[in-house]
Amino acid sequence: MTHSGNGTAVVGAGLVGSLTALLLANRGHEVHVYERRKDPRKVGDAVGRSINLALSERGWRALEKAGAVDAVREIAMPVKARCMHGRDGSLTYQPYGLPGKGRFGHDQCIYSVARGPLNRILLEAAEAKGGVQVHFEHRLSDFRYNADGLTLDFEDQGEVTHKRILGTDGAFSAVRQRMMKTDRFDFSQSYLEHGYKEIAMPPNGQGGFAIDPQALHIWPRGHFMLMALPNPDKTFTCTLFAPFDGPDGFSEIPDAQSARAYFESHFPDVLDLVPNFDKDWNTNPTSSLVTTRCNPWHIENRVLLMGDAAHAIVPFYGQGMNSGFEDARVLSDLLDEYGGDPSQTEWGDIMSKFTELRKANGDAIGDLALRNFVEMRDRTGDPHFLLQKRIERRLADLHPERWIPLYSMVTFSHLPYVDALAIGHIQDGIMAEVMDRPDINSAWDGTEVEHHALELAAQRVPSPANS
Ligand SMILES: Cc1cc2nc3c(=O)[nH]c(=O)nc-3n(C[C@H](O)[C@H](O)[C@H](O)COP(=O)(O)OP(=O)(O)OC[C@H]3O[C@@H](n4cnc5c(N)ncnc54)[C@H](O)[C@@H]3O)c2cc1C
Repeated sequence: MTHSGNGTAVVGAGLVGSLTALLLANRGHEVHVYERRKDPRKVGDAVGRSINLALSERGWRALEKAGAVDAVREIAMPVKARCMHGRDGSLTYQPYGLPGKGRFGHDQCIYSVARGPLNRILLEAAEAKGGVQVHFEHRLSDFRYNADGLTLDFEDQGEVTHKRILGTDGAFSAVRQRMMKTDRFDFSQSYLEHGYKEIAMPPNGQGGFAIDPQALHIWPRGHFMLMALPNPDKTFTCTLFAPFDGPDGFSEIPDAQSARAYFESHFPDVLDLVPNFDKDWNTNPTSSLVTTRCNPWHIENRVLLMGDAAHAIVPFYGQGMNSGFEDARVLSDLLDEYGGDPSQTEWGDIMSKFTELRKANGDAIGDLALRNFVEMRDRTGDPHFLLQKRIERRLADLHPERWIPLYSMVTFSHLPYVDALAIGHIQDGIMAEVMDRPDINSAWDGTEVEHHALELAAQRVPSPANS
């Protein structure tokens, strides 16, 4: 490669890298995007990882800033409720949010989007702007500092020089790997004892959805669970989350035959709906789930981490991509504050401000995602917990200014994750007291319970959830 000394290198053209490139291009920046994969428009989408994702308010806001809402809306399916499948075949619906308060005149809801098409929309929009060049089949192996900026080394592709790197190369980031050689750079990672495997549920015999397409389906079974999220082509992507080892773990279901018996025993209503079960089971990988944390997210005015490269989280709040999109939007907002093309000194301020604003929030959404794992897996089938959720839902319906459930703060608001987590802890304490009332089962929908919760909230919850 020959070019050198040019503006910004974005390493990784996944979801966050593509959106970041688009936001920079909208501001007239010159951007080179380097991606290790082949161009998906020529070879199809990479297989083997979360085929569809839940997009929510933080993601939409970033897409709005990038001018990509209309294109993404074309491929986004509204998903209005969780549908819990009990062991006895019973179905329990929990709406995600409030009626009429969502985007596009919808109820508050999440949106299922396919990873491949979403990635392509963002990348093509970025490429369509002058100033963005995407270089596929460029795997960053290392970089080093020089007087003009940074020299990036690519496997089999030589080297290039840029002023700065935005590292959006995912959970196992090569950019972060290099930053770990910097003095006093903190890093930790921890794997969940659980992994996941995806199985496709095709359309039914009439060409329609096999199960309710307006819901995210969950089969909670204690220490493991199955989930299903719809796709616009009338398929569902089903994901089994289970421990790698031990009872009911992947090690006990090494082949399609034993996996069939497992599904017959735990998810009997599913097997008939997945005729391709054996093929998918044998072909699709069993993947691991990692949480990473690091600090700082930048080095001087030269390198900045964003998205999973800065904060990989487990997928149980549906916020990995959304928080990465929020990173991209916040960077763009910071650039707005400086206007035009910031100087190298200003880039230093922007990067350090970015770490200051985002690091605590990355940690908080990592904690929230782990906490939601336990909730979805163990508690969504528990009648006491379901009653608590019904009470919270009632409070939110009747007093939307005074009680915002944690899920709503995370999914439907722009409150910093760190504040949502803190308020969530306070609300937990309040609900524990309310649920301890001896009359709770009979009086849960009465004014006494309502006032009890609201009074405690007024004393303990800081605004905005209590304004
Ligand atoms: C099972 C599962 C379900 C999920 N569901 C949701 C959900 O519902 N909602 C949600 O918001 N999030 C969800 N997520 C999280 C979401 O997938 C990630 O947060 C998101 O993909 C992060 O985007 P990213 O661009 O930071 O990283 P990635 O999507 O991982 O993209 C990184 C890119 O960098 C490239 N790259 C890597 N190394 C190099 C290198 N050395 N040189 C050049 N390029 C490189 C990769 O090829 C890739 O294209 C889920 C994750 C999983 C695993």
